[in-house]
Amino acid sequence: MLKITNLHVKLEDEDKQILKGINLEVPAGEVHAIMGPNGSGKSTLSYVLSGRGGYEVTEGSAHLGDIDLLDLEPEERAAAGLFLAFQYPVEIPGVGNMTFLRTAVNAQRKARGEEELSAGDFLKIIRAKAKALKIDAEMLKRPVNVGFSGGEKKRNEILQMAMLEPKMCILDETDSGLDVDAMKLVSEGVNALRDPNRGFLVITHYQRLLDHIKPDVVHIMAAGRIIKTGGPELALEVEQNGYADMMEGAA
Ligand code: ADP
Ligand code: MG
Ligand code: MG
Repeated sequence: MLKITNLHVKLEDEDKQILKGINLEVPAGEVHAIMGPNGSGKSTLSYVLSGRGGYEVTEGSAHLGDIDLLDLEPEERAAAGLFLAFQYPVEIPGVGNMTFLRTAVNAQRKARGEEELSAGDFLKIIRAKAKALKIDAEMLKRPVNVGFSGGEKKRNEILQMAMLEPKMCILDETDSGLDVDAMKLVSEGVNALRDPNRGFLVITHYQRLLDHIKPDVVHIMAAGRIIKTGGPELALEVEQNGYADMMEGAA
């Protein structure tokens, strides 16, 4: 599903190399976690995959199925089935949450050659999905993320993901800033989307999210490289010993 090969990335206007040869394969149906200390390049990886500017790929490739992601505009990547839940969701004043979601969903359907959803069908679907995430009607009417609490913003990201039904979901520290109840809601929302035809890349700083979203594979990233790959037990190892031992082992 997602295949990243020898990916090297630097900042566009600075001579700073951030990703130094990332190799990563997430097959359909699997959940892979990426853990690693602050500043290791986890968010950069998610930005480069989703097409945010400011970065330059100097070597390597990234494919979603047969599609070369790095050749596409951000909206084309989304249409191809890639979704990124942001570490810091953006506020969009003046654009109603519901309108935003309906536009996004219909653009997605159009790109897939499907008919637009009628207003009635859209409402039915969004109400059911919002309810599961405890997002009330009021939040659907407000401008996107404006005045939302940290937890509400993260739940709203999961609602977007649930509505868009992407092939490959990347979640960047969706757990950060969440209390226990919100984390449970978010995890349930993610688990409900687990599917043999869908892959997940879950970036997290802490092991606790992975108690709820059980990963198939855990990768440890440090200083722009994946230094270790293993099963869920790797996350527990990090929780107990921190990253220092692994980083020494990799150096
Ligand atoms: P992580 O998500 O693992 O905490 P990031 O991808 O946010 O790491 O950052 C990796 C490194 O790249 C950090 O040293 C960060 O300061 C730097 N970096 C990332 N993006 C930018 C940018 N746009 N401008 C300057 N430095 C950046
Ligand atoms: Mg960080
Ligand atoms: Mg980050």
